Amino acid sequence: MILLDTPSSIGEILNREKIFHISAIFLSHKHFDHIGGLTFFEYWPEQLRVYGNMSVLGNFEITDRLQDNCKFQVLNDRASIKINKIRVTPFEVKHKVPTFGFVVQENNKSIVHFSDKENSELSEYQRRLLKKAQVAVFHTVVYEGGTDHIDVVGVIGIAQEYPACRFVITHIGHNNYVHDVLVKKLSKYKNIIVAYDGMEIIL
Ligand SMILES: [Zn+2]
Ligand SMILES: [Zn+2]
Repeated sequence: MILLDTPSSIGEILNREKIFHISAIFLSHKHFDHIGGLTFFEYWPEQLRVYGNMSVLGNFEITDRLQDNCKFQVLNDRASIKINKIRVTPFEVKHKVPTFGFVVQENNKSIVHFSDKENSELSEYQRRLLKKAQVAVFHTVVYEGGTDHIDVVGVIGIAQEYPACRFVITHIGHNNYVHDVLVKKLSKYKNIIVAYDGMEIIL
């Protein structure tokens, strides 16, 4: 099991989902909503590897307990890390601060997680990833008019270009539509899924 980002409610989420074994944590960037729950792992019963770029790993004071329990390792753009059978490849996405998206691959199937990608054109590399992916995840804080984050309208456009890929939207902000309304609005797009707590996706 690998974990992408540690929001402040991570302890609650892992307990609810009965997840008690994690091999590695990947941190996308230094914004608090993505790392605020890291100290929960001070008391994790196994050694953890925590990966991130220099910007995120240098951003917080690592407590002694966390230092004992975790091995922190710096990620480099497009340099893959193998965790058991899973290959994780970080790739740069544009956001307010240095940020990594992640390609997670197993048995020739892949999920491309765009983290807090801003609302700008996809790079050639990102388009190549989407061509091969089964699932893509975007963080859409607003429905329209996104700046630091891509918006739902932007994801609808991309999803139509890649009909073989399923698009998951998450990180829905208070200025977006509420969940039910969003699900209804997007129901005509067969390859867009609005994420919800506890969602599982089978590749
Ligand atoms: Zn952010
Ligand atoms: Zn965020």
